[in-house]
Amino acid sequence: MTFTLPQLQYGYDGLEPLMDSLTIEIHHSKHHKAYCDKLNAALEADGMEVEDLVHEVFPQTSIFPRAVITNGGQFWNHSFFWESMTPNKQEPSDALKAMLAESFGSYENFIVEFTNESLGLFGSGWVWLCINQEKQLSLVKTYNHENPLMDTVEAVSGKLTPLLVIDLWEHAYYLKHQNRRGEYIKNFIELINWHKVGDRIV
Ligand code: MN
Repeated sequence: MTFTLPQLQYGYDGLEPLMDSLTIEIHHSKHHKAYCDKLNAALEADGMEVEDLVHEVFPQTSIFPRAVITNGGQFWNHSFFWESMTPNKQEPSDALKAMLAESFGSYENFIVEFTNESLGLFGSGWVWLCINQEKQLSLVKTYNHENPLMDTVEAVSGKLTPLLVIDLWEHAYYLKHQNRRGEYIKNFIELINWHKVGDRIV
């Protein structure tokens, strides 16, 4: 097997009470694992690594089988999502807050826009905070398995590097919140790993 399910940096109950342990356990050990297994099956031991997904597969989706793109996207997106959260409450650094203010008006307004984009995403998908080569931040919606590294996702302003993502598939919140997506988004914001977001800026 080429890809393995990444370990979480916290226990299944580590994000309680903001994110419930049953949802995290099923999301990681069933959903994420299934994407991992299907990706391995689709690759047929092709010898790829995670970096190859980023540098080879996502930028040229048309030359790979559909099952590699869908399961590869979902495998990578979930790994990125788990690392976007932390049990240790954090604030953005002053430098990051200044960047958010530059692009969104203020940190507070970033929260409003992130919430509205996440509430407004129709269907299953993801909302990403990204940075471009001019160091401008923006929010990008992607649907189903897609992410901003894929050539099928139109970048608003140049090549984008993802910094943060929220999973907006119903399996991410339905057990606890049912149709109340807004509660889940609010809780996710409390859990954002801002240190990780900062580290992702290269
Ligand atoms: Mn998910």
